[in-house]
Amino acid sequence: MGMKSDIKLIDENGLRIDGRKPDELRPIKIEAGVLKRADGSAYVEWGKNKILAAVYGPREAHPRHLQDSTKAIIQCRYNMAPFSVSDRKRPGPDRRSVEISKIISEAFESVIMTELFPRSSIDVFIEVLQANAGTRCAGITAAAVALADAGVPMKDLVVGVAAGKVDDTVVLDLGKEEDNYGQADVPMAIVPRTGDIVLLQMDGDMTEEELFKAMDMSMEAAKYIYELQKDALRRRYAVIAQEEKEEIESIEEGIE
Ligand code: UDP
Repeated sequence: MGMKSDIKLIDENGLRIDGRKPDELRPIKIEAGVLKRADGSAYVEWGKNKILAAVYGPREAHPRHLQDSTKAIIQCRYNMAPFSVSDRKRPGPDRRSVEISKIISEAFESVIMTELFPRSSIDVFIEVLQANAGTRCAGITAAAVALADAGVPMKDLVVGVAAGKVDDTVVLDLGKEEDNYGQADVPMAIVPRTGDIVLLQMDGDMTEEELFKAMDMSMEAAKYIYELQKDALRRRYAVIAQEEKEEIESIEEGIE
């Protein structure tokens, strides 16, 4: 990242290595409520990324010195499975995952109504099962759905999405080759309803004009990803409603 490389990332038709147009996302699938033991959960497939998010809480924060008497604390842990990347990743936290965990926690602090839960902790686990560039954005997108599935009160969902620059072209949602050989990558977390930006990072270099173009592309894409998140939650609520109906029916049968 940073230098223009000799590897051709945009072909003569203006298409990218995987055939996408500059402003095209990889295919995204979202499912809510995939884990029984967590308070909320979500599974996201985003291109070749596979990511699971689980939420516990709000629950009493432990150890107690972590407690804040005015609001809940958000503790996010982003973790890459050893088998998630091509060279086996050494298990456990490293500098990168500690930093990503911190910035994701801060992004969610902007939308979760933490003041409703003093002395509590809301724990968010992001497990990267398969990585192919863009895992922090896919992880944020999954975590937002898991938080909603857990019933954590939020001002809105949060969408993670990146844009950047490859072969002197501004592109949306960089794939692995583009991440490796591209010129810039700008991951963002966006609150779709307000357009607020709660996370913004940049790796590489681009002009101010290119940066604004990249941010515009991500804003536009966030609206679409937001709809996918809400669809996943609607499907989840339909399943819950059906399960409750069946439970009531079986209780009624027992009474008769
Ligand atoms: N990656 C890897 N090993 C690592 C960290 C990252 O192979 O220890 C790969 C992985 O495919 C990841 C990509 O490099 O998705 C880009 O990593 P980056 O740090 O830019 O974060 P991401 O784009 O996943 O948020």
